[in-house]
Amino acid sequence: MGAMLRRLILALSRSRAAGHVAENVPGVRGFSRRFVAGVRCDDVAEAVRRLNAQGFEATVSCLGEDVRSEREVEASLAEFAAFFAAVREGTLRSHLSVKLSQLGLAFDEALAARSLDRVLCEAADAGTFVRIDMEDSRYTDATLRVFREARSRHDNVGIVIQAYLRRSTADIEALAAEGAPVRLVKGAYREPEDVAFEDKREVDAAFVRLAETYLARMAAGGRLAVATHDVRMVRAALQSARRLGVKRDRFEFQMLYGIRGDLQRALRDRGYTVRVYVPYGTHWYPYLMRRLAERPANLWFFLRGALRR
Ligand SMILES: Cc1cc2nc3c(=O)[nH]c(=O)nc-3n(C[C@H](O)[C@H](O)[C@H](O)COP(=O)(O)OP(=O)(O)OC[C@H]3O[C@@H](n4cnc5c(N)ncnc54)[C@H](O)[C@@H]3O)c2cc1C
Repeated sequence: MGAMLRRLILALSRSRAAGHVAENVPGVRGFSRRFVAGVRCDDVAEAVRRLNAQGFEATVSCLGEDVRSEREVEASLAEFAAFFAAVREGTLRSHLSVKLSQLGLAFDEALAARSLDRVLCEAADAGTFVRIDMEDSRYTDATLRVFREARSRHDNVGIVIQAYLRRSTADIEALAAEGAPVRLVKGAYREPEDVAFEDKREVDAAFVRLAETYLARMAAGGRLAVATHDVRMVRAALQSARRLGVKRDRFEFQMLYGIRGDLQRALRDRGYTVRVYVPYGTHWYPYLMRRLAERPANLWFFLRGALRR
């Protein structure tokens, strides 16, 4: 039942029509604010300022994905430029997280690569770092290709590895040897069984194994972001780091805005770097649906919002 519901929610997350309806229902919009900092760049700057003052780092995501025209890519670039301006002016401590499909990867890989190059130059001017989010498995090879090409010219860029993908052991071994900064996540998309583990225990075991592999093999420049709200994954990563003698400045924890604030504070209080992923923007629907799929208990609050329209 849980797995079926999850699959249904993830299928709905890819419907543009459902997204258009949901984004315009006031009650649902209200509910989205639990996970999304707002719709404007000013909203996210304010949220980051608050987090920084509480001792958290941030990585901001301007929501939007599956862009289908060059004009939409230009709009993404303008949004990123506004964020970098806010970083410079407001002295915010924040990275940027981008999806290559926001830069046109779905229809023109060369355009995505050129656009990423622009983003990384602007990020360097603002003194900050860009993390390339990992999307569904249709994009894995192309995302890694564009990342590696960008990394040959820029050192302010990192990538994401999804523990649920069967291929990830080979990918993380190679990235660790290259000293590429990696964010490790469980994986949030709907994938076929031959591509990804379906059983949660297998995904969890892979996460623990991949964190250990990266920490044991990372070359100079490498840094691991352990991105999870699962306290068992956090403990396992800490044990690996301790066993392998990895210093605290070579890894950090990352969690999503609005999720497990208690765990975020506990790790911060123990002196670990905790970076909060802060999304904002008008196209929050697919992001919100992936958060619902992770925790269908949230569905009740979502439906209550929808019925209140
Ligand atoms: C910083 C960050 C960046 C990410 N980037 C990517 C990416 O680029 N690509 C990608 O595929 N995925 C990404 N993800 C999502 C990730 O793949 C998982 O889907 C998500 O983190 C849930 O898995 P979990 O590790 O928290 O463990 P789970 O086993 O799903 O959850 C563990 C516990 O966390 C809490 N929790 C988890 N999710 C929720 C929720 N939605 N609402 C309330 N409580 C919750 C619950 O207490 C739950 O018991 C990212 C996650 C983080 C934290």
